[in-house]
Amino acid sequence: AHRVDHEYDYLFKIVLIGDSGVGKSNILSRFTRNEFSLDSKSTIGVEFATKTLQVSCFRSLILLQILRFQTSRICIFDGLRNLPQIEAKTIKAQIWDTAGQERYRAITSAYYRGAVGALLVYDITKKQTFDNGQRWLRELRDHADSNIVIMMVGNKSDLQHLRAVSEDDGQVLAEKEGLSFLETSALESLNVDKAFHSILTEIYRIIN
Ligand code: GDP
Ligand code: MG
Repeated sequence: AHRVDHEYDYLFKIVLIGDSGVGKSNILSRFTRNEFSLDSKSTIGVEFATKTLQVSCFRSLILLQILRFQTSRICIFDGLRNLPQIEAKTIKAQIWDTAGQERYRAITSAYYRGAVGALLVYDITKKQTFDNGQRWLRELRDHADSNIVIMMVGNKSDLQHLRAVSEDDGQVLAEKEGLSFLETSALESLNVDKAFHSILTEIYRIIN
């Protein structure tokens, strides 16, 4: 209740990777500033942006299950109302964006240093950006911490008429590689918050 803006329980560094033009910078601006830009000028200057959010921990879910079995509906609502205050943690996400270096395959290891999560983004209308996913996974294996949590993100889901990668193909590859998966649209603001929330929650649960 007495929190001020700069207070947080955890700081998580998340990196955005994937081919040029898939929408990484717009996913970042949508999430941190609720902005989208139609022109495709490559990112200049921005190293990272931050956003602070609440994540409720695993214990509340277990508690919720117990409440479901043991108490009346009214008590469950009481539980729901009270739990977040008890269990929610404040997480500051520091999300790193490339400044277009991905075009030249010149991302340095400093970019990956300290990262606990990665969003591997492809464009659902460009098969090549999906196929390159394997290369990006290799890059992560070479440069990032071996425990990094990776989520695969198929962006531009608003462009259904131009789709070149099915949602199933995305899901299948993600499962094969042991990654979580979502399709997003930075343009329509679809699943962008959800992608960050789920990767941050996953990281939080792993370290606790
Ligand atoms: P980056 O190179 O991966 O950072 O990609 P950008 O964020 O610069 O986006 C490249 C282009 O794709 C820009 O013209 C964006 O407007 C466009 N774009 C990004 N996200 C979406 C989306 O969800 N839907 C559509 N239709 N276009 C998008
Ligand atoms: Mg960019």
